[in-house]
Amino acid sequence: MIRLNDLQFAYPNSNFALNISHLEIGRGEKVAFVGPSGSGKTTLLNLISGILLPQRGKVEVGGELISSLNESARRRFRISNIGQVFQRFELVEYLNVRDNILLPYFINQTLKMTAQIVASADAIADQMGLADKISRLPTQLSQGEQQRVAIGRAILVKPSWILADEPTGSLDPTNKLKIIELLFSQCDNQGSSLIIVTHDTAI
Ligand code: ADP
Repeated sequence: MIRLNDLQFAYPNSNFALNISHLEIGRGEKVAFVGPSGSGKTTLLNLISGILLPQRGKVEVGGELISSLNESARRRFRISNIGQVFQRFELVEYLNVRDNILLPYFINQTLKMTAQIVASADAIADQMGLADKISRLPTQLSQGEQQRVAIGRAILVKPSWILADEPTGSLDPTNKLKIIELLFSQCDNQGSSLIIVTHDTAI
C-alpha cells in the first residue's frame, strides 16, 4: 500500500506547490496519473519514491514511513523495492545495455549478482527487442531503445512498486504495445503495483 497524508510540497525558489490531503494506492493496482505538463506528476512520483521529501505530511510505502527516513535509508529502500522509470531515462553513459539493466545490482550491496540475474537481464533485453544491442552504449541507441533499457532496469529486481514517467513517450506503436504488456504482466505475475504518468490515454 502507498499512502500519502496531508502532504505539502514546494520547490525552493518556485511558485509551484503540491498539496495532497489523502491518496492510497493498493498492492497490485495499476494507476495512471494524467494531467497537463507542469501539474506535478513527476514531482508526485519522486515524492512516492523518496527522491523528494515533503515539507509536511507523510509518505508511506509498503508500511515504511519513507518521509521520516534519512537520505541513505530512502535510497536503500528505493533500490530494493521500487522500480522507477525516469522521463529522461537516466542511463549510465559508460555502461552497455546489459550493465545498465543490471545497475541496481552494481549499486546495492544487498542485491547479489549471480549468473541467473545476468541471464534474467539478457532475457528482459530479448523481450524488449534489444538482444542484438546488448553490448551497445546508450549513445549508440535510439531514444526508444534507451527508453526500453530504462524500463528493463526498473523491472529486473521484480520491485513491489513500478513508477513510470511517460514510459511510452519515445516508443513506436509496436514497441509501445510490447512494453505495456511487459509492464502489466510483470505486475500481474509479481503482484506489483504500477503507477504511470502519461499523456497517452490508450494506456
Ligand atoms: P509534470 O510532471 O506534471 O509535467 P513536474 O512535477 O515536472 O510536472 O513539475 C511541476 C512544477 O514544478 C512545474 O511548474 C515545474 O516547473 C516545477 N519544477 C519541477 N522541478 C523543479 C525544480 N527542481 N525546481 C523548481 N521547480 C521545479
